[in-house]
Parts: sequence; structure tokens; C-alpha cells
Amino acid sequence: KTVLITGASGYIATHTIDSFLRQGYNVRGTVRSQKSASEVLKTHAKYPGQLTTVIVPDIAAPNAFDEAVRGIDGIIHLASPFITNAVDFDKELFQPAVKGTTSVLESAHKYSPDITRIVITSSFASVLDPAQGTRPGYTYTEADWNPVTPETASANPVVAYLASKTFAEKAAWDFVRDNKPNFDITTLLPPMVYGPADQHVEDATKLNTSSADIYRLIDGSEKEVPDTSFWAFADVRDLAEAHVRAFERPEAAGQRYLITSSGYSYQNVVDIIRERFPELREKTPKGNTGAPLPPVYRLDTSKAVKELGMKFRTLEETIVDTVNSFAKLQQ
Ligand code: NDP
Repeated sequence: KTVLITGASGYIATHTIDSFLRQGYNVRGTVRSQKSASEVLKTHAKYPGQLTTVIVPDIAAPNAFDEAVRGIDGIIHLASPFITNAVDFDKELFQPAVKGTTSVLESAHKYSPDITRIVITSSFASVLDPAQGTRPGYTYTEADWNPVTPETASANPVVAYLASKTFAEKAAWDFVRDNKPNFDITTLLPPMVYGPADQHVEDATKLNTSSADIYRLIDGSEKEVPDTSFWAFADVRDLAEAHVRAFERPEAAGQRYLITSSGYSYQNVVDIIRERFPELREKTPKGNTGAPLPPVYRLDTSKAVKELGMKFRTLEETIVDTVNSFAKLQQ
């Protein structure tokens, strides 16, 4: 079977491609440029012949995926901007997130009669209600939706990013409801994703947003432990595996899944780094060592455990492997 994976150059896509290749699938990855195509093929060189690339220069353009979707059996849609410093929210976030998603679905509907399932990497962004803050005692489930509207979406770049993911996921469910295509969809809802940054990156300034979130804790740029932005994480390798299971399991049809290991804080992260990497202690802020997680919202992960059979790595394993993966950036 061949799956199309959009945004093949990305951090999560790199692990997702690896999981599909390892399990014997052929993968066609979409990228924006020839240079990116070469890097993606190099990253997965140990699976010669199983991976090809196709260039889709602008995912928000009409009919962008018409060629890419032909002859494939499934799609994993990951291409979407994860940036928290956008200036032109419409152009940099809403258009690629929403039109990128509907364009994948439209092309599949028109040109891919064999597709049975499209897995969309949505986000906890489309679940949480940012106005509720840390919401002690509350447990988010797949029934929750970020209540953001087009009127409230442009308050600041972070709200706009969260909104772009919410609108994109809603557009996907609306598409299925309105067009009744041959395929069904499954959406995955990870919070902050950490773990080895195995994608090609030129230098540390080009790291993806969630990896950069950890990198700044070891490069000396943070003198104090920053305020935690989101209080839950997932390991990128677990999330990659969840994509394969969401693609394969019949019961995942039409479902959303929170994919998360546990709650965490940046204090927990620096505690692990300072304990496991003594050589980084000078550059890693100390904060209040050992402080437990404060009372904050939780995420109910029982649906992914029950229906996708997920087991999740611990924060310690994830952070140690994340930091080790940064070694290549310092050479
Ligand atoms: P990356 O930035 O590493 O990857 C993003 C991918 O999307 C890249 O392949 C990038 O291509 C592509 N992309 C971004 N903007 C555009 C655009 N305007 N047009 C075409 N392609 C674009 O991030 P992640 O791997 O972290 O993110 C992958 C997905 O996972 C996204 O949908 C994100 O919202 C979601 N997600 C990520 C989380 C995290 O903590 N990392 C948490 C929850 C959800 P290029 O290389 O050419 O820029």
C-alpha cells in the first residue's frame, strides 16, 4: 500500500514517514521544493525504493494536490504552519491550514477512488479553551472544542495559531459531512510534541517550534524557567505510531483522539536536563528544583489507549532523547 504524507520535511512527518516505511508501506511525501525533496530522501536513505517525493509548491492553491493523490491508498495530512510569530495571520496561518486541509480532501474525493482513510494531524489547539487558563480540576476530552471564532481568532499570534488548527479541523469534518466521500477521516490531537529532532535542519535557528521550545532551555538563552505554555506533551515517536494505527484500525473511522503521555511543566523539563546532563547545568535554568506539577487541567487519554492500543513514553525518556538529538546541531 502507498500512503501520501504531506509536509514530509517536517519534524513529526519525519518520524511518521519512518513508522510507515518500517511497517512495509510505500510512502509518497509532499514537499515545497526540489532541495527539500533531496533532504527528505537522504533522511530516509535506509529504505531505498519505498519512498518517493512530489513537489506541491503552494498547498493553499486550488487543486494543489490533484496530481499528488493519484494512485494512493491513504493520506496522512501534516503540512500546516506551526509558528507563533506570524504577522499576516490570514496568509501565514489561516490560508495554508484551512485551504491546505480542504484541498487535500477535495483532490482525494475527485481523484483517489481507492482511498479509505485520511488521517489529519490536528492538535490539542483545537480542543482547549485558552480563555479558561490552567483550569484546575478540568479534564479535556475529545468532546471539547476550542470555542475560537473568526471574530476572536486574531487577538495575537498564539491565539491565531490555535485558531488555524481549530478552523482546519472543523473544515475537514464539514467537508466529510457535506460531500460524503468514499473515505472517512480520523484526527489526532497532540499537545506539545517533543522527542528526537531527526528532520534535516541547517542550524538551531531553523528547528521546528516545539523542538526549539526545549533547545532554548539548554543554549543559555533562558535565565529563568519560563512559564509553561501548555501543560501536556506527547513523544513524537508515539505520535508517529498513532498515525499508523489511526490509519489501519477500522474503529478509528470518524474519530478524534487525544494523543498525550502526561502532564508536564518546564520545571519538570529542566529538572530532567540538569539531572541527566550535568555538563548543561550552567546553561539550563534551575528554578525551583523538584517542584511538583501545580493543579492544572488534564487530558483524558483513555480513548487512544483503548481504541488505538497506545502506550506512551515518559517525560524523562522523551527529554533525554530530545537533548541527545541536538548534538548534531552543535557540531
Ligand atoms: P514542522 O514545522 O517541523 O513541519 C511543518 C510542515 O508543514 C513542514 O513540512 C512544512 O514545510 C510544512 N508547511 C508549513 N507551512 C506550510 C505552508 N504554508 N505551505 C506548505 N507547507 C507548509 O512542524 P511539526 O512537525 O511540529 O508540525 C506538523 C503538524 O503537526 C502541523 O500540522 C502542526 O500543526 C501539528 N502539531 C504539531 C505540534 C508540535 O508540538 N510540534 C503539536 C500539535 C500539532 P517546509 O519544510 O517547506 O516549511
